[in-house]
Amino acid sequence: MKEMKNTPRILDGVAIAGQIKDEVAVEVKELAARGITPGLAVILVGEVPASQIYVRSKVKTCGELGIYSEMLTPPESITTDEMLALVAELNAREDIDGILIQLPLPKHVDTKRLLEAVSPDKDVDGFHPVNAGRLQSGQPGLAPCTPAGIIEILKRSDLPISGQNAVVVGRSDIVGKPAAMMLLNASATVTICHSKTVDLPGITRGADLLVAAIGRPGYVTAEMVKPGATLIDVGINRVTDAAEVERFFPGDAKRAASFAKRGSVVVGDIDPAAFAIAGAYTPVPGGVGALTIAMLMKNTVTAAKLRRGISLKEG
Ligand code: NDP
Repeated sequence: MKEMKNTPRILDGVAIAGQIKDEVAVEVKELAARGITPGLAVILVGEVPASQIYVRSKVKTCGELGIYSEMLTPPESITTDEMLALVAELNAREDIDGILIQLPLPKHVDTKRLLEAVSPDKDVDGFHPVNAGRLQSGQPGLAPCTPAGIIEILKRSDLPISGQNAVVVGRSDIVGKPAAMMLLNASATVTICHSKTVDLPGITRGADLLVAAIGRPGYVTAEMVKPGATLIDVGINRVTDAAEVERFFPGDAKRAASFAKRGSVVVGDIDPAAFAIAGAYTPVPGGVGALTIAMLMKNTVTAAKLRRGISLKEG
């Protein structure tokens, strides 16, 4: 008998991000009619090229959606106390609804202290312990953008969460833990795995819904995946070794050309070979990563509404 070929569904993060941005633009217009312009302040310390690119695209997206944005660029030499003063000023400003501190910060700056100094009501990255607590207790608040993007992808693709066996590999405060909490809040049965987990493949093979947020290129292989599962790949890893690129993307002329041009290609935490047996998956790039800025915009509008006591359902 001829074997049926599996055609997994590709979950298009770029298209979903576009939908969310369109919705945010409508909300911004509704707020404008009430004389409110949501405002985002982004603090970018020093000259980290990747951070500069991220911040520029955040500021650009604000402009496209009608959100006021302000970029603050203190020098690399700024001290923790000076940064704390800057954050305090932004916390007090009426025209600023969201404060984002672009990470990583220089080593001499106390990142944890700074993130905790941001007013929880303006914490559009959702990193403040108060917002982590609100997420855990199901209260309205600001949730971290990347895991919130995962939930948007699943819901908008009509993929079930309730009752599903969800396995999250990774337990960071910014991705793994909040992703697990959001899946639990949506009634999945959740298992969280990490570097000390015993028999990871045995656990991941039981997942209807597998979220990989590990930071290791192609770590989750096809043998670790249940056929037909939904695979959510959060990883963004730059692979610079030609043999490794060929191993992940055998015979892929487009990727080989991109590698020849740039000297690296981006690979997620899931081996692309595993996608072939999935029911649905998020590609890298163009999957989860595409949602992050859209969710930041959504959080900025949410912060503007929550701070003024406007219901999230109305304009
Ligand atoms: P962290 O390094 O903070 O966390 C990685 C997690 O993976 C840890 O919990 C670690 O376990 C676990 N881990 C590491 N090795 C193994 C292993 N061999 N087996 C099982 N678990 C393991 O990373 P982040 O959460 O910040 O990021 C994860 C990935 O997501 C990265 O590739 C990052 O680039 C990407 N990312 C993408 C974003 C996007 O917008 N798409 C945003 C943020 C991150 P332990 O806790 O035991 O050390």
